[in-house]
Amino acid sequence: MITEDQQQRLEDLKNVFLEENTKLNLSALRDEDSVWIGNILDSVVALDLEIFHKKDITILDVGTGGGFPLLPLAICLPDTQCTGLDSTQKKLDAITRMKDALGIENVRMLSGRCEEKGRKQQHRNHYDIVTARAVAPLNVLLEYCSPFVKPGGYFVAWKSMKVDTELEESLLARAELSCHLEKSYEYELPKDWGKRQLLIFKKTSPTSEKYPRSTGTPKLQPIT
Ligand code: SAM
Repeated sequence: MITEDQQQRLEDLKNVFLEENTKLNLSALRDEDSVWIGNILDSVVALDLEIFHKKDITILDVGTGGGFPLLPLAICLPDTQCTGLDSTQKKLDAITRMKDALGIENVRMLSGRCEEKGRKQQHRNHYDIVTARAVAPLNVLLEYCSPFVKPGGYFVAWKSMKVDTELEESLLARAELSCHLEKSYEYELPKDWGKRQLLIFKKTSPTSEKYPRSTGTPKLQPIT
């Protein structure tokens, strides 16, 4: 599914990321193997899901940080418009340098907090797929991410296998935010990285005007 050219571009991403990570604290993963497995392979696993292969879709990666899963997905889905949102401008600047160095043209950056951008008409109920990896517990994450999803679209969360409590504590958030857990996709990374999963939520109707609440509130008072 990944072409030889894309494989080479993913290797190039690993190298520019390693370089950027020496200047900025983008990720705790600092050696070649960890960046390749823990960031790049962990990102492209989403390509196993059919929803990422529909034509003319838009993807928003919330809390993209150093660009994962944003950049690997953009490399492997060159016809898909991908947007990365983060509140830390210096991380977005690093992503811009990396995408320019690699000639990735289908990525744009959005600077700000989810709680603010999720209220803007041009982003609200807008994206076909919203992704998030290592950003917040599910009940908080659903409030951060689901306002951006088009009704009928998907929110995909990267999670460890230990997610039972988070799932239980997100029951009300899922109901309030019209997000239905459609399935979980379990995968295993090479070497001793172990099992992880993608949780795939379908958004069934537009987000209530109540959400997202003001900046800081989703984290301080999660919907429970
Ligand atoms: N997704 C990346 C990855 O897996 O490597 C980065 C994860 S990093 C631990 C979490 C990122 O989420 C940080 O860059 C932080 O700035 C961003 N973030 C956290 N809360 C946010 C919010 N409310 N709005 C926008 N960005 C947020």
